[in-house]
Amino acid sequence: MGIHMQLIIALLLGIKRNGHIFIGLLLGIAVGILYPQTVEHVRVYNILNFVGQAFINIIQMVVLPLVISAIMIGIANIGDSKLLTKFGAKMFLYYSIITVTAVSVASGLACLIKPGFSAAGLINSEISNQLQTHVAEAMAYQHHNAFQILMDLIPRNPFAAVSDGKMIPVIIFVSIFAIALCRTGEIARPLISIFESIFAATMKVTDWIMYLAAPGVFALTATSVGSFGVGVFNDISKYALTVIAALAIQFFIVYPVLLKVFSKVPVFTLFAAVSEALMVAFGTASSSATLPLTITCCEKRGISNRVCSFVLPLGATLNMDGTAILQTVAVIFLAQMYGITLTPLLILEIAFLAIVASSTCAGIPGTGMITIALILNAIGLSPEHMAVGFALLFTLERFIDMLRTVCNVTSDVVVTALIADNENEINYDAFNGTVQPEKAN
Ligand code: ASP
Repeated sequence: MGIHMQLIIALLLGIKRNGHIFIGLLLGIAVGILYPQTVEHVRVYNILNFVGQAFINIIQMVVLPLVISAIMIGIANIGDSKLLTKFGAKMFLYYSIITVTAVSVASGLACLIKPGFSAAGLINSEISNQLQTHVAEAMAYQHHNAFQILMDLIPRNPFAAVSDGKMIPVIIFVSIFAIALCRTGEIARPLISIFESIFAATMKVTDWIMYLAAPGVFALTATSVGSFGVGVFNDISKYALTVIAALAIQFFIVYPVLLKVFSKVPVFTLFAAVSEALMVAFGTASSSATLPLTITCCEKRGISNRVCSFVLPLGATLNMDGTAILQTVAVIFLAQMYGITLTPLLILEIAFLAIVASSTCAGIPGTGMITIALILNAIGLSPEHMAVGFALLFTLERFIDMLRTVCNVTSDVVVTALIADNENEINYDAFNGTVQPEKAN
């Protein structure tokens, strides 16, 4: 299929899947301009604030079940696979390199460009001061009580950690529990199935939430524009540019360099081979929905089914470097916006938490934004504390989601190609189009 045709399909898919959110955004801007936040429009703003806050609460509602079930089945499925010993170590290594590079690029750019500074004027100084004190106290505590912090990560009562919303102790407990589960053999199957059901249900709920994204984005945008004028887009343009620049560095520099250094896979041939899948990723903003096409594109080019069927599905759930980039930039943006001092320790913590949070994301639209709550929570904040900033992030969220999903899918393809090359699981004649792929596998 020609590149023009592919672009048209991607565009149509983008409009079909995301049109309602963009309409919400446009209506929000219109209402914000027509009804500026003044005393005459108090009623309108009471309703808009209610809708916007309800949307944020609903998002928070699914974080715990999503994170717990994703980790549980992610680890349990890895343990199940016999291919783990053959491809597992390399897969882990490449995914780690890619994700660590992603958060390093993202935090470096965010500290350099300082996107949050241009939006700082939108924040009430009383709220900023409160949050600054809050984080400074949390950081000072962490600094002087390193052992206690480590101790607190081990939950004495996992249920209390769940009900207090302490995400890192919960993740530690669930990971240990999942590793134990996959070592216990067949008896664990029913429980793993329950978590698979919970995961499927949370995916469904998230899908529904994305339908609510239209009124949610409408209300949040109207409130922002109504309070601060259309200038808010100027205020967040630096944030969007930072995310896009980090995604571009990952796509155009990091992936090609990795392919060059660790394999003999030609970058352009690989990217051209999967371009159809990348277009669909852009249009749907969902790596899971794109997965069947990603597998087909790779297999068509002679990458063995053994590698594709093991690495790509795991990648579509665990490897989300585009999402990690978004989350790192978004949290640093919020911190800068609220005047929170970004010490090297805090930046490291944010980057590390973005790796954890992104790997708990489901490959569907919007989960990257949802699990930002996990990072904020771990550094002593929450989306409610930062309602104005969080609302701003939502104005351009869907477009950024479409772009980061392309990165998520590409990195899965790159790791698959690297492993296939290293393990002699790629037929270069098929890859270069000189023989039919069936003969290759
Ligand atoms: N939409 C992304 C994906 O499917 C996940 C996210 O960052 O929201 O890969």
